[in-house]
Amino acid sequence: MLKENLKNVEQTIQAACEKGARKRADVTLVAVSKTKPVEMLQEIYDAGVRDFGENKVQEICEKYDKLPADIRWHMIGHLQRNKVKYIIDKVCMIHSVDSYRLAEEINIQAKKHKLVMPVLLEVNIADEQTKFGVSKADTLLLAEEVAHLDSLHVEGLMAVAPYVEDPEKNRKYFREIRQLAVDIRRKNIDNIDMHVLSIGMTGDYAVAIEEGATIVRVGTGIFGEREYHNK
Ligand SMILES: *Cc1c(COP(=O)(O)O)cnc(C)c1O
Repeated sequence: MLKENLKNVEQTIQAACEKGARKRADVTLVAVSKTKPVEMLQEIYDAGVRDFGENKVQEICEKYDKLPADIRWHMIGHLQRNKVKYIIDKVCMIHSVDSYRLAEEINIQAKKHKLVMPVLLEVNIADEQTKFGVSKADTLLLAEEVAHLDSLHVEGLMAVAPYVEDPEKNRKYFREIRQLAVDIRRKNIDNIDMHVLSIGMTGDYAVAIEEGATIVRVGTGIFGEREYHNK
């Protein structure tokens, strides 16, 4: 069943690439596996997926040891500074940098491990109270501030668009974040790249690809609805 879901997602991605005149190779599908058991991740791994997204440090650590070593783990959730040390040597990218202090801690931990961590700046693209991320107005400033941290590398921007029934409603936000990336790129800041746009989730990834997404983060569309148990 999961393989069928994955096939459908892949077809949607390819159709969106054609519609948006994008190359399929320029779009990475990250399978968002939060709350799902390792057996389900293994099934999707066996179908060829290598990029998985998680939003909790503890969950990454638990799954990391039980699954193949060539998985590329993406940290996509809000990250507390005191937990950076647990995932610094496990993830291939941190999508959720939204403050200088967090960037500074990532830099310290990355340096300890003699690595350079690829990161994205998270933008609160629709100024929603409930969402993390810096405002559009502050994104350039954050880029300028973190530029001197030499054990992390800013690759681009990430956003979680509003939850909408009609994905067309998010098109304007995807355009805005792409434009923001263009504007920042024009500043030619050392150590700041803007080639990655991590936008688009189950409800709107086709529109996101048409508007320039290079990473889409799809959970429900692959693994089905998530169940959250209240403790
Ligand atoms: C859960 C989550 C996703 C995936 O959401 P779906 O709607 O299930 O595809 C993508 N990005 C982030 C940051 C998430 O937390």
